[in-house]
Amino acid sequence: MKIAVLKELAAGERRVAATPETVKKFAALGAEMTVERGAGVAASYADADYEAAGATLADRAGAIAGADILLGVQGPPPDSLSGVKQGAWLVAGLNPFGERARVDDYAKLGIEALAMEFMPRITRAQSMDILSSQANLAGYKAVLDAAAEYGRAFPMMMTAAGTISAAKVFVMGVGVAGLQAIATARRLGAQVSATDVRSATREQIQSLGAKPIFVENVKGIEGEGSGGYATEMSDEYKTAQAELVSSHIAKQDIVITTALIPGRPAPRLISDAQLATMRPGSVIVDLAVEAGGNVEGAVAGEVVEKHGVKIVGHRNVPSRLATDASALFARNLHTFLSTFWDKEAGKPVLPEGDEIGDAIRLTRGGEVVSERLRG
Ligand code: NAD
Repeated sequence: MKIAVLKELAAGERRVAATPETVKKFAALGAEMTVERGAGVAASYADADYEAAGATLADRAGAIAGADILLGVQGPPPDSLSGVKQGAWLVAGLNPFGERARVDDYAKLGIEALAMEFMPRITRAQSMDILSSQANLAGYKAVLDAAAEYGRAFPMMMTAAGTISAAKVFVMGVGVAGLQAIATARRLGAQVSATDVRSATREQIQSLGAKPIFVENVKGIEGEGSGGYATEMSDEYKTAQAELVSSHIAKQDIVITTALIPGRPAPRLISDAQLATMRPGSVIVDLAVEAGGNVEGAVAGEVVEKHGVKIVGHRNVPSRLATDASALFARNLHTFLSTFWDKEAGKPVLPEGDEIGDAIRLTRGGEVVSERLRG
């Protein structure tokens, strides 16, 4: 039973799908571990540490040859998998909607592609959820990125030279990333407010010491939608939300937007006209920039300035904290595979009809089998 850890090939990707810690744990389960040379270097995990943890180092072809499971952060280009064993599992964040053509190619290669971002939102899968572990770090980093671009301080400071007032931070979208952004901004001493369409977040915002800003008198999503995800809102709601944002945003120094709707473009939350009402020197971080952006004018991979406001649109924010992001991602993968480890078979087995297997399996036996992709 051989597990191969692939080196990431995507531009700007610094993470790695296994760390020396998880390599050791897989080895303890009886797996033969092979790490592609240099796979962890960008995340500060040295080849020698993988070797010390029990892995063999190899070039790509050597890592892939005979492997039963390939671990990746992002989906590898199919042409980089030549020589892969029929029926081998590819376990990674495969971006199935964004990289749809690749899924067909994985099927043609005869491998079983398992997309970790399709992990169902059920209690037993929480510790296997790469979206949560990575969004948490992204929310934290978004606040630090905002602080770095901001020409003023976050906390109130009383100095001999006079007093500096606290920064006002507004978080839009209070999922995993938004909650961490609120907590981080509070730790830095900012005055924080936040909004979401799911009314369940109101209490969560308050419990973190921030002020909830909510559209009143128009129904948002009461409680939680399917899997806790938001759905697209009515036009009436969108108009009320735009008015609320307009009056609030003009008084804010920092805005962090995180609003996403699975499988759809990100909702537009801030228009250019609203941007123009903000004070020069304000900073917006758009964490949804790669899904089309919550902010008009945000550009993926760039920090742009409009009306004196900086809009930060870094791609792949978790990769900017590559060491910790890798550690959590690697643990998600290890938890998933070890949960399904069949001691007698000496390998993980996904039972037929299991909710997790059915949700994440994209391809099998040369076909695309995912309901979400076929539908
Ligand atoms: P997400 O990344 O899909 O979206 C971020 C936030 O944006 C969400 O809170 C969403 O409601 C909000 N949003 C969407 N459209 C909006 C709009 N027009 N205006 C304002 N806000 C908008 O969300 P997420 O981080 O994945 O979390 C969603 C929920 O799922 C949370 O309650 C989280 O705790 C839950 N969750 C559960 C599990 C589990 O049980 N295994 C795992 C992860 C998350």
